[in-house]
Amino acid sequence: MHRLTPLFQFSSVAVIGATDSTRMGAGPWRALSDLGYTGRFYPINPRRAEVHGLPAYPDLASVPEPVEAAVIAVARASAPAALRACAAKGVRAVTAIGGGYAETDDEGRALQAELAAIAREHDLLFVGPNCFGVASPANRCAIYAGPGLDQAHAGNVGVISNSGGFLPELIEYGTPKGLGFSHFVSCGNETRVTASDVLDYYIDDPATDVVLAILESVRDPSLFRAAAERALAARKPIVVLKLGVSPKGARAAFTHTAALAGDAAAYEALFRQYGIIRVDDLDDLIEMGALLSRAVGHLRARPLERAGVIDISGGGKELICDRAAAAGVELPELSAAAAAAIQAVLPAEVHASNPLDTTGNWQSPWIDALYPVVLRALADEPGIDMIVSRFGVPTQGDLGVIRQRLDTLLEARAARPDPLYVVLSRTANQFSAEWTAAIWEHDLPAVQGYGRGLRALGRLAAYSRHLRARASAAAATAPAAGAVQLPADAAPAGRTLLNEVEAKDLLRAAGLPVMATTWARSANEAVSQAAAHGYPVVLKAISPQVVHKSDVGAVRLGLADGAAVARAFDELRAVVTALPGAEFQGVAVQPQATPGVELVLGAQRDPQLGPLVLCGLGGVFVEVLGDVALRLAPLTPFDAQQMLTELRGATLLDGARGAPPVDRGAVVNALLRLSALLLAVPTIASVDLNPVFATADGLLAVDARVALQAEGQQ
Ligand code: ADP
Ligand code: MG
Repeated sequence: MHRLTPLFQFSSVAVIGATDSTRMGAGPWRALSDLGYTGRFYPINPRRAEVHGLPAYPDLASVPEPVEAAVIAVARASAPAALRACAAKGVRAVTAIGGGYAETDDEGRALQAELAAIAREHDLLFVGPNCFGVASPANRCAIYAGPGLDQAHAGNVGVISNSGGFLPELIEYGTPKGLGFSHFVSCGNETRVTASDVLDYYIDDPATDVVLAILESVRDPSLFRAAAERALAARKPIVVLKLGVSPKGARAAFTHTAALAGDAAAYEALFRQYGIIRVDDLDDLIEMGALLSRAVGHLRARPLERAGVIDISGGGKELICDRAAAAGVELPELSAAAAAAIQAVLPAEVHASNPLDTTGNWQSPWIDALYPVVLRALADEPGIDMIVSRFGVPTQGDLGVIRQRLDTLLEARAARPDPLYVVLSRTANQFSAEWTAAIWEHDLPAVQGYGRGLRALGRLAAYSRHLRARASAAAATAPAAGAVQLPADAAPAGRTLLNEVEAKDLLRAAGLPVMATTWARSANEAVSQAAAHGYPVVLKAISPQVVHKSDVGAVRLGLADGAAVARAFDELRAVVTALPGAEFQGVAVQPQATPGVELVLGAQRDPQLGPLVLCGLGGVFVEVLGDVALRLAPLTPFDAQQMLTELRGATLLDGARGAPPVDRGAVVNALLRLSALLLAVPTIASVDLNPVFATADGLLAVDARVALQAEGQQ
């Protein structure tokens, strides 16, 4: 039994503040009746003798039997007393459905803190406040106050939402598309039970195969990550609709459930790291949930990446090619055998291909003979994972000839169940009631609209590829990140930015490949250090006021001899002293590196999600190109490898224009070491290695910046 099970399974419920009419007081009863709850129910209301036709109790203590679960449906000022009463009565699972807490004002914040303290003290499974609560169509019970549960079918999709308001639409629009639910949790302000706890529960829950999450923020990133990792192992896909990714959206999130939406890029990194399927709006969330709920059995047994598609029209065929390419759905060419089998039943002037354009329409009589042959030929193709039939699904009325085509499809599926059979409709319009009934009756994956439908198939394919890449990487041996050994004097007191020499010393000690660099206070020192490094050398000014050296002309490249070094020293001193308020502290002396592919490696801390590691292409142009990949620390070797494949310019690493391929292992190693460094040294705020020259022989960072946390910020 999972520690959260009492929230989802119980047979006695009390509602504190139950009424016959008000939204808050009557909502929990309606939710229970909507789900066909058959357990015991205790309305608590000192001002009523009866509620919902049942005897009301003046308080929880007066209930003569034990109570497993409760809803607090009273005004906020009375909520702490109600929660204490729950603890005294031995109630395990409690939701507080009203609003007016941390999202509203100081008094609300104080009340919420009090609720949190009571829940912690008594170890209560407390959901909310400011939420709809928990509903379980799978177990026919609820401590919930939202509408629409009467329409919800029991199914294998578990929902977590920071926004209760989306749930009625998820039910109303999802049900006709075949979306059925195991449980819903609207977790509101998450004072005790968080979305991460619920995710953790869903991964263990046998009734849940797919998780849909509508998130404003992840309050417990390490639990979330552990659960997401287990979800991959269990092949339970997670689909996230992240709210508050734009700067304006983030502010709205703050006022909504008092959550600070984290930096959008950090969340993107989190989701990519665990193969979490990201959608941008509610329609795509529904589409994805409905598809996955029916594809998950196949997903556990085989890849789902390559589609064979049957359309009726030439225009449809072209649109499928365009949308599939954009969505990342592969459309393999037919084998000679499949092409011959299909060609045999096609009119002579029509060419067998994938996607197939049969010509005519679904009413055409020759489709009777053609369609089963095509389905069979595609099922025989080892390179095809999904067979997509683009039907003309009516928006209303009966199915007409589509009923017959559907029967053919079902026969083909029964005979050859190994590929996934999907129906695609032309537009994202509403389906007819008869089609909806067919989806439910035959457990049929049906996606809507060329664009949205293929996007859903593309997301499914990306998830499948992630599972495969992860499985093959697990077999590969991981390079050891090595322990981080730092010199005791690495972080000078009172400063937050290390100079280039200090930064490189620290990073070298952490095992990162940085160019040997020394600090010269005089021209003479610079000349003798240059000789020791070996010519040609590079000189750069050291000054606390100069952060971006080349911006102010403080870098001298390709110095060939002592005279050039002495001259460069004087020039750099002149450059710095000419800057208002800048102090010249000497120069950094280092060998000139052999050029390679210019990378940027770095790390920084996200206030919500913790240390992030970055890999980018383009050196000085990284900001312009924006070609970067991010992951959260701790990084696995698989994560680091994925970062490299994710870069748009990844082919540069394979040796563009005749160059030998870059040593990817060295890059992976450096990323792992950056991850280890940020975890080991909490005083480091950020690291920036730009540029790093990558060649076939390894890596070398020629510039480094390290920022330390300001005092009291750690
Ligand atoms: P900043 O980023 O502060 O402007 P850098 O140290 O990155 O200064 O130097 C600017 C550019 O000079 C780098 O992008 C790189 O192209 C070149 N450069 C710097 N150090 C070296 C070096 N040791 N060898 C070769 N090129 C270098
Ligand atoms: Mg630089």
